[in-house]
Amino acid sequence: APAPPRVLHHFSDPGEVETLRENLLAWYYRCKRDLPWRALAATEPDADRRGYAVWVSEIMLQQTQVATVIDYYNRWMQKWPTLQALAEASLEEVNELWAGLGYYSRGKRLQEAARKVVSELAGHMPRTAEDLQKLLPGVGRYTAGAIASISYGQATGVVDGNVIRVLCRLRCIGADSSSPAVIDRLWDMANALVDRSRPGDFNQALMELGATVCVPKAPLCRECPVKQHCRAQQRKLFGKPVPLPDVEDCGVGDCPLCPPATEPWDSSLGVTNFPRKAAKKQPRAMRTATCVLERRGCRGAPEYLLVQRPSSGLLAGLWEFPSHPLPQDLQDEKKEKEVLADHLQAWMGQPVAAEGLQFIGEVIHIFSHIRQTYVVYSLHLDGDMTLNTASSPSRWVTEEEFHASAVSTAMKKVVGA
Ligand code: SF4
Repeated sequence: APAPPRVLHHFSDPGEVETLRENLLAWYYRCKRDLPWRALAATEPDADRRGYAVWVSEIMLQQTQVATVIDYYNRWMQKWPTLQALAEASLEEVNELWAGLGYYSRGKRLQEAARKVVSELAGHMPRTAEDLQKLLPGVGRYTAGAIASISYGQATGVVDGNVIRVLCRLRCIGADSSSPAVIDRLWDMANALVDRSRPGDFNQALMELGATVCVPKAPLCRECPVKQHCRAQQRKLFGKPVPLPDVEDCGVGDCPLCPPATEPWDSSLGVTNFPRKAAKKQPRAMRTATCVLERRGCRGAPEYLLVQRPSSGLLAGLWEFPSHPLPQDLQDEKKEKEVLADHLQAWMGQPVAAEGLQFIGEVIHIFSHIRQTYVVYSLHLDGDMTLNTASSPSRWVTEEEFHASAVSTAMKKVVGA
């Protein structure tokens, strides 16, 4: 069994925990942001609808800023106010609404899970974190804890990026915060700290603190409702956490939660010494040739060809300009044009002259794990042409229709190139 946490990294005083909860909750009730999902979670009397409302918000908020999510959330809940309504939607509709929010598989998984609740669970949301995680595809430990505590009052903690930062600072945890050992300790801590009678509010308060006060670069420690409990702050002010005379022992050698001995406390960083993460892997670089194929539509307005991506993998089911990955070592414009012309020929069922392709520019888009460079070309077509729709669906759209389609942000950038 792992060694019990050392006193520096532990909430060992029940009185202190009680005061921390009270201070944090009082601050939350005073300062929390008005967010549409909070209003729904607080007022919706139907338990399934309440769970659904929180679930949608949590999935949208993964990797996405609150300010961006609000408008998407309101439109989503207006269009599909219940699980049943979402279960009946098509993937195309889901992708259209999700367009621009990124990480598209989230919308798809949400809809698949809604179908499962309707068809296999008689339309009822599971009520505990354990069941939510077990029964709903795409619902991990954090999302399950958030839904169960906020919608159903289960006294269970949550650990997301904001909570990691706050807890690591409160208890001077400087070991790699993405390591399983540290994450496990943080879950134990979150489960022990959560307020038994108001778990949903407590969890939201902890996350709100991380989002608005205990922010990554310049935390507002003076305004912090839990500063008296914060050992990173004490260490910054007094050189070491004051009520803990033996803390100098911690971190010398073998403490699994202290910063590594090779990277000790840096006084110029203050509380932002915590949390620490192992260096991130660099995203993989990819180059893709893409062609804005334009023709004159029947009403004289220009139209552009969109093709649909495969139904699994990156940007599944979204629409894009005909695109083809380029070998990494190919940087020669003539050869790039030839690769693209061959690809277009397969779509158009007729030869495409590579010289007709006009280079427009390059657009870079960062996906979570890929740094994608789109090498953008354009081609104007005269007269009619047949399309080979056997490999995947395609359609001609006006500029207006393009913007209303389920296209990724990367493709919108390509239009602006
Ligand atoms: Fe974060 Fe500062 Fe509050 Fe500590 S005192 S929890 S570092 S904002």
